[in-house]
Amino acid sequence: MARNVDPVCRMCRREQMKLFLKGERCFSPKCPIDRERPPPGMHGLRRSKTSEYGLRLREKQKLKRFYGVLEAQFRRYYALATKTVGNTGEQLLSILERRLDNVVHRLGLAVNRNAARQLVNHGHVLVNGRKCDIPSMLLKPNDVVKVKAKENSLKMAREGLQKNLVRVPDFLEMTGGPEQPEGRMTRMPNRQDVDERITDIREQLIIEIATR
Ligand code: SF4
Repeated sequence: MARNVDPVCRMCRREQMKLFLKGERCFSPKCPIDRERPPPGMHGLRRSKTSEYGLRLREKQKLKRFYGVLEAQFRRYYALATKTVGNTGEQLLSILERRLDNVVHRLGLAVNRNAARQLVNHGHVLVNGRKCDIPSMLLKPNDVVKVKAKENSLKMAREGLQKNLVRVPDFLEMTGGPEQPEGRMTRMPNRQDVDERITDIREQLIIEIATR
């Protein structure tokens, strides 16, 4: 399964904003964005004025990198969003929030989406009682996400819970304790439920470039 293996802090530096792709480090003074490191590349500081197209492209890249989605999959999500009733931009964000790896991360079971993806890939997560190793699976209301009752799986999830610094959003609820972590999607996520670390994303610009 293809995934982006670029150095994560470099992606934040390229977008010149925190994408929170690590864990505790993102909240520490060691974060290169807090240290005002320039964009990557020889001409990082000497980039010319961004064009209208460039502005839209950067907005799209930010969103893809934040959720760990590659271009082909992003296009599929866009196509799905256009077929769904409602504002296409908001539907696109809702779809990204419903991804299993995102839900695992936002429930606090993994410190970042990459760790959540690995937890799912390695078969440590059950959806509605059945093993699911597809991080891109889209959840629906009342789906229950549970960590496998194996010592190894529980240990990893508990470590994630201890280190995680993000709050559980309103469309999810944690129903299990640290002994047996478990969560449920209570309803479809909306624009207000989008991860607060990327709420200033301008989805309209993304839609404009995606329609080209
Ligand atoms: Fe690196 Fe996290 Fe800072 Fe991004 S937010 S630059 S991933 S430490």
